[in-house]
Amino acid sequence: MEKIEAKRRIVLVPVPAQGHITPMMQLGKSLNLKGFLITVVQGLFNQVSSSSQQVSGFQFVTIQESFPESELERLGPIEFLIKLNKTSEANFKDCIAQLLLQQSNENIVCIIYDEFMYFCGVAAKEFKIPSVIFSTSSATNQVSRCVLSKLNAEKFLFDMKDPEVQDKVVENLHPLRYKDLPISGVGPLERLLELCREISNKRTAFAVMINTVSCLESSSLTRLQQELGIPVYALGPLHITASATSSLLEEDRSCVEWLDKQKPRSVIYISLGSIVKMETKELLEMAWGLLNSNQPFLWVIRPGSIVRSEWIESLPEEVSKMVIERGYIVKWAPQKEVLGHPAVGGFWSHCGWNSTLESIVEGVPMICRPFDGEQKLNAMYIESVWRIGIQLEGEVERKGVERAVTRLIVDEEGAEMRERALGLKEKLNASVRKGGSSYNALDELIKNLKTE
Ligand code: UDP
Repeated sequence: MEKIEAKRRIVLVPVPAQGHITPMMQLGKSLNLKGFLITVVQGLFNQVSSSSQQVSGFQFVTIQESFPESELERLGPIEFLIKLNKTSEANFKDCIAQLLLQQSNENIVCIIYDEFMYFCGVAAKEFKIPSVIFSTSSATNQVSRCVLSKLNAEKFLFDMKDPEVQDKVVENLHPLRYKDLPISGVGPLERLLELCREISNKRTAFAVMINTVSCLESSSLTRLQQELGIPVYALGPLHITASATSSLLEEDRSCVEWLDKQKPRSVIYISLGSIVKMETKELLEMAWGLLNSNQPFLWVIRPGSIVRSEWIESLPEEVSKMVIERGYIVKWAPQKEVLGHPAVGGFWSHCGWNSTLESIVEGVPMICRPFDGEQKLNAMYIESVWRIGIQLEGEVERKGVERAVTRLIVDEEGAEMRERALGLKEKLNASVRKGGSSYNALDELIKNLKTE
């Protein structure tokens, strides 16, 4: 039995960004534990180093993009993805042809690609290899994209001038309103819609798997299944099923020692993920709000995350001195470990999907400060559907920050959110145990991979 499975290889193709690489590597680890060999195909940007994957059965292959990394910053995410897809298709086909030649005693049973790497679908079809799409964001976000792919940009923008249209609930997607569709902060709507259409038109996959859990968004999953007409597997949160080291930045573990010295549930942990950038003005308001709240804080400030600054040098000296004395600042933290630490009482997050899942898995309530569209969707669910967090809306200012931290860490309201978060934590842990929904979904997918 084992011998047959050892010859089955799965090719994984992640988007070269931390929030996409991490769950893809976790998926790879899960599949590897089930007996599959794994090939990770990646470009030159943001490579996961093969040495970080201390597991046998993993192979890393590089395909070259035909444009420099500096383009990423210049183009913005949507244009970057459209261009990446155009320039990677031929190289990827060559890569699969090479793999097929080299592996005479193996079978590539499937290509699993990030939904944004839709060039893979073309190669999979050409080589008659089954393919599956992997989505690293929520099912609600996928459904929103299906809705968007059918819209006419001009008409939609015109209709949205009417407040009644803005507040209309998207059919069968309560509580999602048209104004919640994830369209802000990603560039011109026409280009976003083009990307949505490309993802939809180039789909050749026989199934979609999502790093989510059915108990978190069951109605979106049902709707998604109807929209796509192919099986949708909710098999998250993958970081519980299989942890895999894939951090692109070095984790500063000294913050764990600092946390060890803090009182239980007293610390607010702040991290805005791997991409978000903010203005110095917001940084300053956050700093004052945190200082005025009198709660200890652990703050991740990524180098380059403050516009026009290397790091925190744009803060007035007396403020950065107080922040460093009264809180703890790192450039990158071991986030999952931090969220699981007993001293952490709340998470101020930009609401990226991975951070959202990681927080729920540790039963930590959140302060939501989303930046772009998809994060806003997640924030809405955190605040209004799961009721485990508070949204900071509009411009961030110190009084609002102080109030939010107090509500979350000190007030009864925060304790209630924590209770609900702990309830969800139980459900998520149950979903990956034998017989749980995510456990069963992974099992079913694997059965299908064997028969495809
Ligand atoms: N992360 C981390 N250390 C940090 C900040 C973030 O390890 O100091 C990880 C976090 O655990 C998560 C990922 O980076 O897995 C961020 O992904 P998410 O989807 O939350 O946001 P994105 O970076 O894609 O905006």
